[in-house]
This record gives sequence, structure tokens and C-alpha cells, in this order.
Amino acid sequence: LMPSDLLGADRALVRDPRQLKHLHEVHRAAQGDWLRIGVSNGLMGRGQLVRLEAEEAELVVTLDQPPPPKLPVTLLLALPRPKMLRRVLQTVASMGVSRLVLLNSQRVEKSFWQTPFLAPEAVQEQLLLGLEQACDTRLPEVQIEPRFKPFVEDRVPALVQDTLGLVAHPGNYPSCPWGLDLNQKITLAIGPEGGWIPYEVTKLQEVGLQPVQLGARILRVETAVAALLARLFSG
Ligand code: SAM
Repeated sequence: LMPSDLLGADRALVRDPRQLKHLHEVHRAAQGDWLRIGVSNGLMGRGQLVRLEAEEAELVVTLDQPPPPKLPVTLLLALPRPKMLRRVLQTVASMGVSRLVLLNSQRVEKSFWQTPFLAPEAVQEQLLLGLEQACDTRLPEVQIEPRFKPFVEDRVPALVQDTLGLVAHPGNYPSCPWGLDLNQKITLAIGPEGGWIPYEVTKLQEVGLQPVQLGARILRVETAVAALLARLFSG
């Protein structure tokens, strides 16, 4: 199976006509059959056919090796420009983030919200590339929030409950913590290429996210995502 056929941890779809032809004509496969599968990220497993149609087959998959554990992180990320969005999605998936919220901010250009790369299939395609890199199979949840204020006021307080809330912002702030317990739940906000505006930092602080900095170097968004997550979960 190709990784683009994987759906979450334990389900896979086959849509590739060549593989379907093979299933129907060579294996003469039927519902209930068990198949040995190789996933192109190196994971191997077994799959039981639960549905077999002309244009699609569905399997319940058991992998030989479990995928690596996810990080208990909800990442609030100001929507990057389209070209960077694709790479950041791969980075977010490969680093094991559980949940990603693509959020608006003053310095996110309006045109970024029109990009075809935000379509669910396009987002999933990039996430799968990241998962493949990391030998993972579980997609992060992705939420798109084109309105900053209502999301932060109405939704973030519940999200931050029982988590450590951090907003990455360069400046004279406490240093981002290192090497937290892998079970420590975190809500982490990372700004746009032009940075958060002061109002946004204040709003995020009001709902429980503490500003933290990563040192004197200003990192591009994609690097900041990797640096923050590696630093928080260095174990
Ligand atoms: N000139 C912008 C500023 O001063 O905020 C730079 C924005 S940076 C390219 C994009 C985002 O990455 C920031 O909003 C922040 O969330 C994160 N970031 C990058 N470098 C950082 C640092 N040294 N400390 C904390 N956050 C950083």
C-alpha cells in the first residue's frame, strides 16, 4: 500500500488502479481475506479486507511495529504563506504534533486563505509526506480558524485547560523550557512571518499562554516549529 492510502492508525484505502487490478485478478481477493502489506514508510503489517469494490478497497490494518508516540501538543500556527505552508505541514506531521490549528493573525495576508493548498486533500497530502518521513501513520487533527479573536476568546480557554500554554515571541521574555516530560500537554502558539502584533500576544496571554523566547536569533516559521518542539521534548 502507498502511504496516501493510510487513514489514521488502523485503516487503509486502496485506490490505485494497478493495485486494485492485482487484488481482483491476481489474488482473487475477497472480503475477510488477510493480506501482508508493506507501507512505503518502512512499516510492515497485515490488513484484513473489509470492503472490496472495483474502484476502492478498504482494509483494517495491524502494523508489526507501533508508530512512534504522538506529542501531546496543540499547535496554534499563524497561517504561513502557501509555499511555506506545505513544508510546515510536513514538519508538523513528522515531529508528531497531535493537533494543528491554522490561525489568522494581523500579519497573515488575506490572500493566503485562498490557497488551494488549504484544501483538505492538499493538507493531507503534505501531512502524509511528513508521517512517511517519521515512520508514523497517524494524521494530526487539523483545524482551520480564519478569525483570531473569536477563536482565542471562545475556544482557547478550554484548549489550554490542563496544558502548559506558551506563545513563542522574540523579545525580553522567559526562555522556552527544555526537555519536558513526554506526557506534558502543551498548547503552543507560533506567529506569522512578520510576527504577532502586541494585541495578539496580550490576547493569548489573557487566555493563559505565557510568552517565551528562543534566544537572539529570529527563526523562520518552519525552523521555529522544529526548534520549539525539539527543545520542549528533547528526550
Ligand atoms: N520579526 C518577527 C518578530 O519579531 O516577531 C519575526 C517573526 S518569526 C519569522 C515567526 C515566528 O516564529 C514568531 O512569531 C515566533 O512565534 C517564532 N519565533 C522565531 N524566532 C523566535 C525566537 N527567537 N524566539 C521566540 N519565538 C520565535
